[in-house]
Amino acid sequence: MHTHSTASDGTLTPAGLVERAAAAGVETLALTDHDTVAGIPEAMTAAKAAGLGLIPGVEVSVTWGGRTVHVVGLAVDITCKALLDGLAGLQDYRVWRAEEIGRRLARAGYDGALDGAKRYAAGTLIGRTHFARFLVERGAAKDLRDVFKRFLVSGRPGHVPGEWTTLEQALGWIHAAGGIAVIAHPARYGFTRTKMRRLIGELKECGGRGLEVVSGSHSKDDYHVYARHAREAGLLASAGSDYHGPEKPWIELGRLPPLPDGCTPVWAAPALAGARRAAA
Ligand code: AMP
Ligand code: MN
Ligand code: MN
Ligand code: MN
Repeated sequence: MHTHSTASDGTLTPAGLVERAAAAGVETLALTDHDTVAGIPEAMTAAKAAGLGLIPGVEVSVTWGGRTVHVVGLAVDITCKALLDGLAGLQDYRVWRAEEIGRRLARAGYDGALDGAKRYAAGTLIGRTHFARFLVERGAAKDLRDVFKRFLVSGRPGHVPGEWTTLEQALGWIHAAGGIAVIAHPARYGFTRTKMRRLIGELKECGGRGLEVVSGSHSKDDYHVYARHAREAGLLASAGSDYHGPEKPWIELGRLPPLPDGCTPVWAAPALAGARRAAA
């Protein structure tokens, strides 16, 4: 329920991703690129050919509680104007931020980073991962994880503080498009239990329905912590690898364990079951 293609910062094309998922035995796949749905039509066509259920999705960048929080929208109508207009605003912000990252990296001694990042950005969308790949190519760090830690996170030379959209607006766009909103990889934010409860409370007030419980960036302990959050809050539980391609550090498609007992899977929701049937 959570993957990326070259439409954002993944390394496989939408069709390539779908084919790899089908070969790995995945029956239902959500493509959830960062702040864009541009990869969905190609993925849909490939999914029909491969006999795989494709759920059109998007991973929206939100600023909440002074931090970046990602919200996955599942089964969204990719022709919805409110959604497309909202995402266009985030794409514009990304263009400005990329120029600023380029300027800051130049001051840190790395010229040409914007052009370098753009060579890795196949779609219209540009993000930190494209800068990270360029910096690894330049030998600035040994791998993606290392490059983020040294250059691209808060307090580092290539970091640009800024604002995405609000939780309320993001959920407004997802719901206008008929989708289901799910908090992505909650363990990644490092929130206290209290703060996580507040995020979940606000998600529910805005009509959000789900929480990623099993994620490529969660530990086994995290699965149980977030399964409990989901149960307590009456949220649907999601599972997604957050696959970005066959390279490290991403886990392979179709390898996640099942949801812990007592979870209600988000794919049982009528909106998603419909998308699965339509594709079957
Ligand atoms: P952005 O939305 O452009 O700020 O970039 C966020 C993306 O950067 C995430 O979706 C990941 O793909 C990638 N990312 C963030 N932190 C790391 C990390 N420590 N190692 C590898 N990739 C990361
Ligand atoms: Mn990413
Ligand atoms: Mn994310
Ligand atoms: Mn993601």
